[in-house]
Amino acid sequence: MTTVTAPEGSEFGLQNLPYGVYSVGAGPRRVATRLGDTVVDLGILLADLPEAEAFTASTLNPFMATGHERWVAVRAAIAERLRGDVAPEALHPLSAVTLHLPFEVADYVDFYASEHHASNLGRLFRPQNPDPLMPNWKHLPVGYHGRSASIVVSGTDIVRPCGQRKGPQDPEPVFGPSVRLDIEAELGFVVGTGNAMGEPIDVADAERHLFGVVLFNDWSARDIQAWEYVPLGPNLGKSFASTVSPWVVPMLALAAAKVATPTQEPTPLPYLAMEQPWGLDVDLAVEWNGEVVTRPPYKEMYWSPAQMLAHLTVNGAPTRTGDLFASGTISGPEKDQRGAFIELTWGGAEPVQVAGEERTFLLDGDEVVLTASAPGPDGTRLGFGEARARILPARQA
Ligand code: CA
Repeated sequence: MTTVTAPEGSEFGLQNLPYGVYSVGAGPRRVATRLGDTVVDLGILLADLPEAEAFTASTLNPFMATGHERWVAVRAAIAERLRGDVAPEALHPLSAVTLHLPFEVADYVDFYASEHHASNLGRLFRPQNPDPLMPNWKHLPVGYHGRSASIVVSGTDIVRPCGQRKGPQDPEPVFGPSVRLDIEAELGFVVGTGNAMGEPIDVADAERHLFGVVLFNDWSARDIQAWEYVPLGPNLGKSFASTVSPWVVPMLALAAAKVATPTQEPTPLPYLAMEQPWGLDVDLAVEWNGEVVTRPPYKEMYWSPAQMLAHLTVNGAPTRTGDLFASGTISGPEKDQRGAFIELTWGGAEPVQVAGEERTFLLDGDEVVLTASAPGPDGTRLGFGEARARILPARQA
């Protein structure tokens, strides 16, 4: 037996204990947590627990399906056991494992919960409108149903998409590789237990359904999006790929990160009303070719994740273990807090400096990394790992 510790000040100390899925070499995928830079196999650490089989699964879904009470019990058991002696075969250096997509994504919805982002995009996409927000925006969390099959884990290359576009000066639409490829820095919320069809999740119960949080990069082809989105919303400009971080930070680890959302005025309808809507004080950073170009603050988000889940199900739509809903681009009030390059460069009109070059949208070979941290208990910080990817050239037909 041996002991395992995180370095003093680590964002992956006992205050965090995220869940992920790893393999070593050609070995099977198994469920793990992370302490410092050590990956801890939960199938071994928790072999005597009733849900032990869930930790030898290739995704987090079987464990997530056990429900909130077991999430609480298992988290306590992990912390207790990591304070004592651990079987050495449960431990792997982070550098020696491959991390995989941590959960099988069931359905995926993307919201649009930042007032700053929605206002900026309104000004860019609909400059003729006096109010950049659409009339519904402060009454409901606007969202669309996206494609779960193209959600990939950090480290997966992103191939530049091809599609139709038609700029304002183009007489006819043209087909080809996107020339306005962009990021959207978001958080993704993982549904651990869903609801039956016809039985909406009450806004007050939503948190018990939420298993955890991942970083989420919603790659966006702005030229494809601008031509296709009227009147039914995003489709191929978004559905080619989204990147998630490999570690799911449990909601149970984020108690100290809860903050009030900005004031919601007008008061939401009763099914969305919360005595105190909560957001999360998560600070993101976006690196573009190794340089931090923006720091989006999640605490600025207008709608609470609880309101998003209540809204998603209020019509009776069912959700399942592994459902993922993303927040929408996180943008703060300042220019260097904007979570998409279309906002950061104002539609390409105001290039930013990236490693000594003037840049607007993504070029082939560019690499983007999202990172984040949040307050934990007793002055600690929690890390979210990273969502990293490189852009490969289009594969043109
Ligand atoms: Ca988005």
